[in-house]
Amino acid sequence: MKIIMLGAPGAGKGTQAQMIADKYDIPHISTGDIFRENVKKGTELGMEAKKYMDQGLLVPDELTVKILLDRVAKPDCKNGYVLDGFPRTIPQAEVLDKAITELGEKIDYAINVDVPDENIIRRMSGRRACLACGATYHIEHIPPKQEGICDKCGKELVQRDDDKEETVKNRLDVYHKQTQPLIDFYTKQGVLRTVDGTMDMKDVFTAITTLLA
Ligand code: ADP
Ligand code: ADP
Ligand code: ZN
Repeated sequence: MKIIMLGAPGAGKGTQAQMIADKYDIPHISTGDIFRENVKKGTELGMEAKKYMDQGLLVPDELTVKILLDRVAKPDCKNGYVLDGFPRTIPQAEVLDKAITELGEKIDYAINVDVPDENIIRRMSGRRACLACGATYHIEHIPPKQEGICDKCGKELVQRDDDKEETVKNRLDVYHKQTQPLIDFYTKQGVLRTVDGTMDMKDVFTAITTLLA
């Protein structure tokens, strides 16, 4: 099964993608996580990506597409995957489409996690992330068992550099201009499904699994 998660920054794409990946035993692929890992390790890719990420801008398509295509070519992707944060522009979607079509395959679902902008800022200020394993928490809504520590791997949780209110506003602008057009793109392909992302995390997941069944 090949699934794409769509939605504004902070809509809950990553949270739901991880649950989908666990349930269907497919990899959860987040381009944001890949970039953050590279920033942390100080690779050339990381240094280049950070210039854009810190401003809330998208990393150029050329760079992003290459990373994603390399990742989905790995053997663990043969039964499918759930993409979180990719594609984010029409050109990215077109490249992905071409690559998948050449393999004689298709995207099964594009799940649009719908959350209004007003809710987003509040969610982002409480987000805490584990840079070691990619798990995400919220200080009020989805707290870790032990404050500041990842439930899954025991590493320290941090606030992402780009989750500051000013940067979040830029990311929302970028979302509306560059990413929202993908809703039309996948509607035309007949694979778009929208869920109400303002519900409790578990209820959002139930809505998604009902769609996938
Ligand atoms: P969010 O949790 O806000 O949806 P991500 O972790 O997906 O954020 O992405 C963080 C940042 O990484 C983005 O603001 C952008 O700079 C960069 N990024 C991630 N995925 C992409 C992509 N597909 N295209 C361009 N830039 C990306
Ligand atoms: P995205 O990947 O779309 O940027 P995340 O999955 O990282 O979003 O979620 C953003 C923040 O909101 C995180 O702090 C997460 O723990 C929290 N969150 C996710 N889903 C919900 C929900 N249904 N209700 C409340 N908070 C949520
Ligand atoms: Zn962790």
